[in-house]
Amino acid sequence: MIKAVVFDADETLLDLRPAVDYALEQVLGSLRALEPGLALTREHLRESWQEVFAEDPGAPVPYIRRESLRRSLARFGLDRHLDEHYELFFRHRYEQTRPFPDALATLAELRAAYLLGYATNGNSTADRCGLGGEFAFELYAHQGGLPKKPAPEFFAAVGAATGTSPGEIVYVGDNYHHDVVAPAAAGMRTVWVNRGGRDLPGPVVPDLVVERLAQLPAALRGLA
Ligand SMILES: [Mg+2]
Repeated sequence: MIKAVVFDADETLLDLRPAVDYALEQVLGSLRALEPGLALTREHLRESWQEVFAEDPGAPVPYIRRESLRRSLARFGLDRHLDEHYELFFRHRYEQTRPFPDALATLAELRAAYLLGYATNGNSTADRCGLGGEFAFELYAHQGGLPKKPAPEFFAAVGAATGTSPGEIVYVGDNYHHDVVAPAAAGMRTVWVNRGGRDLPGPVVPDLVVERLAQLPAALRGLA
């Protein structure tokens, strides 16, 4: 019997991509005002992010953002403007990060039947992203030394926070490796949020696949 439903944050409950794109545009706009004709592009910023992430995928997201921004600015001799643009990025990124349109109604419906949790690798704190007060618990990688998904310790912490056994927990997320393979290895049930209609990327089969959050309540009722 399912007792707890625990959610990934970014791209599962939160429509992060437009917020990041908007925040990067604000950073670029500010830098171009300082340096007319600046050749730095959003693609440069994205490449730097990928480069820093690839060097240490377990690093905290704010570190990855700051270091990637530093490298991008350094290419153009603008690294003295790092602090103000790091702050500018996160101010806009938080202001713009909001739940998908069906998220809050889905959470309200599920709350009547299950304990709800929020467990993320990132820094989308629920209260800053339109999800304050929605969950019985929130877990953030790097707080209290918690390693990032897919570490087994992350899912052990999820289990402890629910107070139930792994088989009574459903983990819901968009990232196949972090949100399906890893929690399944911990004995949890899994829901893959597959908005893009992608093919399953590996051999581990989620218990459920949904394209929209609004499908969750009915889908979970069908889970034995
Ligand atoms: Mg995600």
